[in-house]
Amino acid sequence: MLDLLLPQRCLLCLVPGAQVCDGCTAALRRIEAPLCERCGAPTAWPVQRCAECAGRRLAFARARAALAYDDRLRPVVAAWKERGLRRLAAWAAAVLRESLPRPDAACVVFVAGDPDRKLQRGHHAAERLANELAALWELPVRTFLTRARGSPRQRGLARHERRRNVADAFLAHDRVPSRVVLVDDVYTTGATANAAASALRKGGARTVEVVTFARTIRIR
Ligand SMILES: [Zn+2]
Ligand SMILES: [Zn+2]
Repeated sequence: MLDLLLPQRCLLCLVPGAQVCDGCTAALRRIEAPLCERCGAPTAWPVQRCAECAGRRLAFARARAALAYDDRLRPVVAAWKERGLRRLAAWAAAVLRESLPRPDAACVVFVAGDPDRKLQRGHHAAERLANELAALWELPVRTFLTRARGSPRQRGLARHERRRNVADAFLAHDRVPSRVVLVDDVYTTGATANAAASALRKGGARTVEVVTFARTIRIR
């Protein structure tokens, strides 16, 4: 893409060099224990369920993320997703590998993108991240999920609307192994990860572990 032709600068501090320099990478907010065991939200002490996920039926066993999706990280994720800056996927995978242990799984699956949107952008962020991460973890990437064409956008919807919006958005079209890692770029409400995990479970998975680069942190 175009970014190969442009002089390379850090997206955050504009220092020439990497797309996100080491200093800015180190300054991004890590998600660290104590966490909710289930959804991975930071909590005051370790809990099995938290205010965010209690009472919800979730198809995944647990969700984990490397970084807080805050104002500092937002422009980086936007550049990655909207402008398709290719090297950011490798950077994000490296940050993830540093933050999370390698999951015990047969393969990596990514949250399938809307085919129309992928055509527009020419890439799908979750797919690229899954490929980079799978290479680091030495796991195969499998494409089990398809997404219904033209599923409405999540952005700008209220939380309950997001959940309803994606409930039947995915379909697993092959026999899925028992343990899989599901990769996505950002965990916002968990609705997308849950819908994708639900399809993987219907396809035969028993344990779905969700791994995302970033996660929205709710202020309580
Ligand atoms: Zn920088
Ligand atoms: Zn939770």
